[in-house]
Amino acid sequence: MTNKSVTLQAHKLSADIPSGYCPYCGSRVHVLSSHMQSDLIRDSYVECNNKRCGHRFVLQISFIHTVEEPKFFEISLNLPKSPKLKARQNDN
Ligand SMILES: [Zn+2]
Repeated sequence: MTNKSVTLQAHKLSADIPSGYCPYCGSRVHVLSSHMQSDLIRDSYVECNNKRCGHRFVLQISFIHTVEEPKFFEISLNLPKSPKLKARQNDN
């Protein structure tokens, strides 16, 4: 097993399911189930906590870019970097 696969597996295990809010009534939602679309995209099937509303929908969490690189991983996943991070690294 390579370092990269170990890191990605650790991420999957520790990936907490994000919470969100119902777009109809604004109440918090709870997760019914979730699955990874890819290493960087997760779909969560959620239900509104407001019993009178009952809206069920899918939330998707996706990686956009790195804002601050991790301090203790020696491998590079070659992920996109934020414009500010790129500018900072080009200054050094
Ligand atoms: Zn609702």
